[in-house]
Amino acid sequence: MYRKNAWLKYKDTKPVMDFNEGYKNFITVAKNERLAVREAEKLLKANGFKNVEDVKSVKAGDRVYFINKKKNVAAFIIGKEPIENGLRILGAHIDSPRLDLKEHPFYESKGFALGDTHYYGGIKKYQWTTIPLALIGVVCKKDGTVVDINIGDDPKDPIVGVTDLLIHLSADQMAKTLAKAIEGENLDITLGSMPLNEEDKEPVKANVLRLLKEKYDIDEEDFISAEIEIVPAGPARDYGLDRSMVAGYGHDDRSCAYTSLMALLDTKSVKKTACCILVDKEEIGSVGATGAQSLFFENAIAKLLALAGNDHPLWAARLAMENSEMLSSDVSAGFDALYPSVNDPKNAAYLGEGLVFNKYTGRGGKGGSNDSMPEYYAFIRNTMDEAGVNWQNAELGRVDQGGGGTIAYILGNYNMRVIDAGIPVLNMHAPMEIVSKVDVYEAYLGYKAFLVKYKNIM
Ligand code: MN
Ligand code: MN
Repeated sequence: MYRKNAWLKYKDTKPVMDFNEGYKNFITVAKNERLAVREAEKLLKANGFKNVEDVKSVKAGDRVYFINKKKNVAAFIIGKEPIENGLRILGAHIDSPRLDLKEHPFYESKGFALGDTHYYGGIKKYQWTTIPLALIGVVCKKDGTVVDINIGDDPKDPIVGVTDLLIHLSADQMAKTLAKAIEGENLDITLGSMPLNEEDKEPVKANVLRLLKEKYDIDEEDFISAEIEIVPAGPARDYGLDRSMVAGYGHDDRSCAYTSLMALLDTKSVKKTACCILVDKEEIGSVGATGAQSLFFENAIAKLLALAGNDHPLWAARLAMENSEMLSSDVSAGFDALYPSVNDPKNAAYLGEGLVFNKYTGRGGKGGSNDSMPEYYAFIRNTMDEAGVNWQNAELGRVDQGGGGTIAYILGNYNMRVIDAGIPVLNMHAPMEIVSKVDVYEAYLGYKAFLVKYKNIM
């Protein structure tokens, strides 16, 4: 199975194509972490999982989930073995690079109402200009109401966007480097151009605020306690004349989040407790209450142990984590035929060759990476080959070309066995990312095989 085009395995591609219809629907709706959690909860409920708040005790075979602050979910199938013997964990992140509205976003200039933004995660700023963008998120009012905002994703909605200079007047801009041509402070969105009246000092801005007030009953001040994210508008689409790929926003890392979740949902019974955890804030360092570094996950396992009747759940949670195996499900840099020089071709990820394992990521001399144990990697190879999963190995680019990280090291810090495993992506962090449908499917198959494979590992 190692390093072959996975399409050749399928005489009938229908299972691959059908699975990807579900995936396209998911990323079309789940454009930020809150919406991803909402969609995940729907899928969990439809597949017999119960919210832990409605559960008094747990036993083997039970299916439960925890939701943390609306942005983080951990779902479990309780195994036949005691939980402290360890879990099989699939972990992915559900935040993606984007533009966020500032706390005081609104201003008017030269007849336009504009929204000031601060970008989130690593972006090539020029990629976010002159494309259709949508506003999604929440505005939290002082009276406790949380107002859902979603403008631009429905084809009947208006869209917003970031303007860029016409080529005719870009002599100065074109002489700059790509990194400097578009300034972060200039990634502001255009919200309107129609004045409300003749009296107002900022009549165009006043008109936009009036519209927001009418539709959502929110005031300018309410945007101080808001989380409005500016994301690419419109649905995920088939890419390529052969429809072999999906173009969409947020494959990093919702392609791995969806396949991990579906792998758990489609698993019946397990010896080791199976888990899928979806976290926020990976793109900015996995920090804070809803990131992978949060105590949420450890606490959730302790709560499960308490519900299973364990008298020392916190200590048992530590043991459970130490005895766990994890796939840190995060996307890999797909080999781009237009830019071959950034990769070592024999250690690169290719679209269509299946689930990618990264023994390590990091930058420079593997800095900041979780360098996985070869004993564990051997177990993974065996598991994938036995299940007939197409898989490949990769590094994140040539040595010293750049680099990056995932949540792998954070769970590794609990002394569990972790390896990075994900889907190769083209255009990573661009508004339109590309994945191969067959890689999405192989990832799902690989994750499923990992959850059920039972064997003692060195
Ligand atoms: Mn990622
Ligand atoms: Mn990323």
